[in-house]
Amino acid sequence: MGGFGGPSASQSSTAAGLPHAGVPGHLVEQMTAIIEREPEHPEPVIEFDYTADEAELLTLRSFLRPYRPQLVLAVALVIVETLALQAGPLLTKIGIDRGVIAGDRSVLVVVALVFVATIVVHAGASWWRISFTGRLGETLMERLRVRVFSHMERQSLDFYTDEKAGVLMTRMTSDIEALTMLFQEGLVNMAVQGLTLVVIATVLLILDPLLAVIALFVVVPATMALAIWFKRASEIGYLRVRDRIADLLSDLQESLAGIRVISAFNRRDVNVARHRQIVDDYRDANVETARAAAIFGPAAEGVGIVGQAVVLLIGGRMVLDGRLSIGDLTAFALYLTAFFAPIAALVQLYNSYQQGQAAMSKLRDLLATRPSVIDRLDAGDLPPVDGAIELTGVHFGYDPENPVLRGVDLSIDAGETIAIVGPTGAGKSTVAKLVSRFYDPDAGTVSIDGHPLTTVTQMSLRRQLGVVPQEPFLFNGTVADNLRVARPDAEDAELVEAAEAVGMADLLAGLPHGIDSPVHERGTSLSSGERQLLALARAFLARPRVLVLDEATSNLDLKSESQIERALDTLLDGRTAILIAHRLATAKRADRIVVIEDGGVQEVGSHDELVAAGGRYAEMYQTWERGT
Ligand code: ADP
Repeated sequence: MGGFGGPSASQSSTAAGLPHAGVPGHLVEQMTAIIEREPEHPEPVIEFDYTADEAELLTLRSFLRPYRPQLVLAVALVIVETLALQAGPLLTKIGIDRGVIAGDRSVLVVVALVFVATIVVHAGASWWRISFTGRLGETLMERLRVRVFSHMERQSLDFYTDEKAGVLMTRMTSDIEALTMLFQEGLVNMAVQGLTLVVIATVLLILDPLLAVIALFVVVPATMALAIWFKRASEIGYLRVRDRIADLLSDLQESLAGIRVISAFNRRDVNVARHRQIVDDYRDANVETARAAAIFGPAAEGVGIVGQAVVLLIGGRMVLDGRLSIGDLTAFALYLTAFFAPIAALVQLYNSYQQGQAAMSKLRDLLATRPSVIDRLDAGDLPPVDGAIELTGVHFGYDPENPVLRGVDLSIDAGETIAIVGPTGAGKSTVAKLVSRFYDPDAGTVSIDGHPLTTVTQMSLRRQLGVVPQEPFLFNGTVADNLRVARPDAEDAELVEAAEAVGMADLLAGLPHGIDSPVHERGTSLSSGERQLLALARAFLARPRVLVLDEATSNLDLKSESQIERALDTLLDGRTAILIAHRLATAKRADRIVVIEDGGVQEVGSHDELVAAGGRYAEMYQTWERGT
C-alpha cells in the first residue's frame, strides 16, 4: 500500500501525473478523502544568518505570543466547560428546595432535564477543547524542535566539543517532551482547575456569605501555605531531575559510541557500575520531588476534609436555626467536595508546570549560546579564488589561558601543496581549522587571495574549500548518498567518475550494487582505508580550490596506503593543498614542508632544503628513517 504512505508519497505520484497510480477504482474515493485530510508539508525555509530575533530569550510568554487568538478560544471553551460542570450542585439545590421539599414533581423533571443538558454541553466543549489544544500543542512543539535543531546546526565547532552529545540529545528529547505535556494539557488544565476554584468560591459566597467565608477561611490559608512550601521544595528538585536525565543520556550515548574501546579494555563492568551510579542519582532526584508531592497531596486533602466537617457543623446548626435551607447545605457540601479535586489536580499540574519551566530554562540557555564564528553584517561572498593563503601574526588558543599558536606567519602560493609537520599537540590541526574558519584567530589574519576570512561569508568560503578529516564520517545510506554530501546535485555518472578518479573502481566492483550499495552508520562496514578513499572522492567531487587534508593516523595496510597515495596525486593536482602529515612519507611529496613547534613556524622549505639545513626537520627525518 505504498500509495498511502503519506503526503510525500501521494504528492510525488501526483507530481508524476499519476494521481491514482495502481489503486483499484473502489478505493480511489477513500484515498482522495485521506489525501484531503493530510496536512501540507511545504519545504521549510530555514534562515541561517544569525539574527537578533533568534537571540530573543525563550520564555513561556514570548513563545506563546503568536498564538494568542487560539489561546483565547481555548480559554473561552474552558469557561463554557467549567460553568456547565459546576451547574450540577446548584441544580441539586433547586431540585431539593423547590422540588423535593415543596413537593413539586414538575420542578424535579425540569431540573433533571437541565442537568442532562449541562452534561451534554460540558462533554461537547471538553471534546472540542481537548482536540483543539492537542493540535495547538503539537504545532508549538514542532516549532520549538525546528528552532532548537536549527540553532544547534548553526553553532560553530567549539560548541560541539564543549557540549556532550548526550546532553544535547536530552534537550531535544526529554526536555521537549516535558514541554509537550505542559502545552498539550498542563496550561489549559490549570486554567480549568483554577477557574473551577473561582466559580465554586463565588457560588458559595452568593449562596451564603457567612458560611462561605467560614469554610474558605478554614481551607484557603492552609492550602496556600502548603502550596508555597511545595513550590519551593519542588522547584529545586525538578531542576535536579532535568540535570540528572542529561547525565543519564550522555552516559548512555558515550557507552554506545565507545563500545569498542570499552570492550577492548574490559571496561564493561566499570561502565555498568558508573551507569548504575548515575541512574541512582536520577532516582534520588525523582524520589525527592515525589516525597514533596506525597506530603502536599494528602495534607491538602486533609485540610479539605476539615473544611467539610466545619461546614457540616456550622451549616447544620444554621439549618436547625432556620437560617439556611437543606438545599443550600447540600449544595455547600457538594461544592466543597468539588473544591478539592481541582486543588489536587493543580498540585499534579504544578509538577508538570515545574518540569516544563525547568526544561524551558535549559532550552533558553541552549538557545542563548551564540556561535563563536559569525558572519559579519557587511560580509560579502568570496569571489572565485586562485587559492593563495596567507597567515599573518596569527595568535590562537582554545581557551585564552593556553595559547596554542603564538604568532604564526605563513604564506602559501596558489596551487602549492604544503605539508605541516611537528610533534603531536603542536597545533598542526589548529592551523588547518583556522584556514577552514572553524575558528577565528584571537589576533592576526588568515586570508585567501588577499580576502581576510573574517570579511567573507562562511558559505561562500566553504564552497571553495574542501576538508578531509582524519576520521571521515559516513552517514547511514548508500555510497552515492555519502558522495552527494559534497554536491547534492551531482549526476550518477559524476559520482562514478569521482570514485574512479581516487581509485575506488575495484572497491565499487566488489560491492553488490555499486554506488547504490548501503554503507552503515559510522561506516563500520567499510575498512578505514576504504572510508578514507570515499572521503577523498567526496573532496574530488566538490572540486574545491583549496583542500585541507588531515592525514589518517590509523595504520593502513600497504595496498590501501599506495591507493591513497595515488588518489592524493589526482586530488592535489592543480589545487592549493594543506596536508597535515602525520607520516613523513607523505610530507616528503609536498612542494614545501612547514614545521610547527612551540606555537610558531620553526622551518619552511622543500624536503631537500630542510634536510640539507640540518635543523628540526632533518632531525625528525633521520629518526624516522632509522625507524623504517
Ligand atoms: P596537532 O594537530 O599538532 O596534534 P592540535 O592542533 O590538534 O595538535 O592541538 C593543539 C593543542 O590544542 C593541543 O594541546 C590540544 O590538546 C589542544 N586542542 C585541540 N583541540 C582542542 C579543543 N577543541 N579544545 C581545547 N583544546 C584543544
